[in-house]
Amino acid sequence: MIQQIKKKRPGYGKMLDFYQKVKEAQDKAKASLKIGPIHLKKEWKELLGKEGFSLIQKEDFPLDIETSTKLFAILCQIGKDSNPHMAEQVRRIKEVIDNKKIDLKKLLSKGMKEEKIKKVADESELDKGVLSFLIQSSIKPSIEAGREQLKSELDLETWLNGYCPVCGSLPLLSLLKGEVGKKYLLCSYCGYQWRIDRLFCPFCNNTEQEFLKYFYGEREETYRIDLCDKCHQYIKTIDYRTLEELDPVLEDLATLHLDILASQKGYKRPIPNFWTA
Ligand SMILES: [Zn+2]
Ligand SMILES: [Zn+2]
Repeated sequence: MIQQIKKKRPGYGKMLDFYQKVKEAQDKAKASLKIGPIHLKKEWKELLGKEGFSLIQKEDFPLDIETSTKLFAILCQIGKDSNPHMAEQVRRIKEVIDNKKIDLKKLLSKGMKEEKIKKVADESELDKGVLSFLIQSSIKPSIEAGREQLKSELDLETWLNGYCPVCGSLPLLSLLKGEVGKKYLLCSYCGYQWRIDRLFCPFCNNTEQEFLKYFYGEREETYRIDLCDKCHQYIKTIDYRTLEELDPVLEDLATLHLDILASQKGYKRPIPNFWTA
């Protein structure tokens, strides 16, 4: 799959190689992952359907810190080999960990608390984007295991919000599936997919058709950018009616040219991927 995309888009080769290595390391980490059962309060579950609360908040996912710490070290190595900027950042991150300015286990155990990560990055003069990428990628196997546990608690047809019913995060991408092209949103944090109305902006809840537009890449109707003229934000949509659904995140990375076009038109992407951040 990655080979096909690389052939189609030679300019993306290096980045896709990096992504593939990260993914392989995460898949390996899953084998030794230990995540206990998540207990939801009954009252909370009842509120979900009625009030639009997510099942948990993103910091409530149980994390396997041992496995995440090991994965963090492996991802640092992959980053070091991938490009000079990452290599320099990894060197500095190691330095602050060795000097005990950062307690890595503690930092990982807080999950993706943006404010905390920003504070740590500022204090130690690190690139916040690289640090949060390494943290998020290291805890991702734990998050996905939690999502798999929680998804059986949900009744999909009752959820029509722009944020994830499992963890409350905003979507990374939207996906069209099935013969009639049902629309799904893909959670940027836990990877859960939920069905949504086709004419709907997940970021401002706009449903007025005249404010919703889209454009395609040249000769690429499989990938499109859905624009909202109410909030001036956009989401990328991948049309899986004509494409085998393998890895939406990879498709996203291989179509960064569409993000550039959208940004030139003056639209913002609320949830960027690592490379558009
Ligand atoms: Zn989620
Ligand atoms: Zn909007």
